[in-house]
Amino acid sequence: MNAPAATTALQPQLVGLDLIRTLVAFDTTSRESNLALIHWVRDYLAREGVECRLTFDDDRRKANLFATLPAQDGNTLSGGIVLSGHTDVVPVDGQPWDSPPFQATVIGDRIFGRGVTDMKSFSAIALAFVPDWLRRGLKQPVHLALSYDEEVGCIGVRRLLADIAAQGVQPRGCIVGEPSGMRVVIAHKGKRGYRCRVRGHEAHSALAPLGVNAIQVASEIVSFLAQMARRFQERGAFDASYDVPHTTVHTGVIRGGTALNIVPRDCSFDFEFRHLPFDDPEQLLAEVKRFAATLLPEMHAVDPTTHIEFDSLSTLPGFDTHGGSEIAALGRACAATQEIGKVSFGSEAALFHNAEIPAIICGPGHIAQAHQPNEWVTLEQLAQCERFMRRLGDHLCVA
Ligand SMILES: [Zn+2]
Repeated sequence: MNAPAATTALQPQLVGLDLIRTLVAFDTTSRESNLALIHWVRDYLAREGVECRLTFDDDRRKANLFATLPAQDGNTLSGGIVLSGHTDVVPVDGQPWDSPPFQATVIGDRIFGRGVTDMKSFSAIALAFVPDWLRRGLKQPVHLALSYDEEVGCIGVRRLLADIAAQGVQPRGCIVGEPSGMRVVIAHKGKRGYRCRVRGHEAHSALAPLGVNAIQVASEIVSFLAQMARRFQERGAFDASYDVPHTTVHTGVIRGGTALNIVPRDCSFDFEFRHLPFDDPEQLLAEVKRFAATLLPEMHAVDPTTHIEFDSLSTLPGFDTHGGSEIAALGRACAATQEIGKVSFGSEAALFHNAEIPAIICGPGHIAQAHQPNEWVTLEQLAQCERFMRRLGDHLCVA
């Protein structure tokens, strides 16, 4: 394939390219162990004289890595900035890829591979700058936080945060390298996922009124959720800084019934709220439950054991670091932009924020390319990320 001239000029300047290739080559799909990648990074940092703390999942198949580049005065605990990335990636199963997904491949002005945008490039570039920062000497510590199981609900980072709090590490800010197009993102929505399980009453479909049709009951609740979604879309609340400027409600999975001639006994469906940080998700669920309760008398009249139940599937808080915060100012200075944004997708930033580590999101690539077949990021975005790291070094280093 013929690469444009600009690309060949850009490639040798990217100090992180080899590390991107290395990290992408580890298949760290969330269901797999990430230990091979973690051990590789641990050994890489050890060669620079940097020690790591690993925190494991219950099965010890996956680990978070936390490493501190000490300040020149030896300080490792107070202040400093966390650079945060997740090591896991979403599956490639069933996706039509034109290049091997676990091999970062440069074609033209882009690099393709699973995780190149979400989000191994940011972590790789941060790691590539470690020798430079250490050589220049740091005024305050720089912490690297690599987590497991982000894509399945920001699971791993919770242990990492508990561990560093127990160690007395008190960073003054965190930069999460999720793909933001290298814009400085200061807020994202929260997310709540739920499963609703409807238990009806089986009957021959010729005798439908003698049964309780679980699919129909579920459908009424799904319709109610759709009405809620419409209400937010039409009446807000609105925050125009978001790409989708209001809370959204969505049903993503439904299962029910066994045969057309049986009134179905069971139906379950999964739905979610992606709420503005200041909307209360508890109230949204309460509203759905109140509606569901209005369906029960008719169900119970046929069979008192019928029911509607709600299980929580996932919870991720929203966050909003104000545009005037210190970390947002640092982010803007390093990104060389005054622009700040807010996004609808969730991330670990909210968990850092809740742990009293003010956070922003700033990373190469765009969320639209994440989770897709032929996931890509432009070399220009990577170059921007490297300029960001260079400026960060200028702020944090002695020389
Ligand atoms: Zn991500």
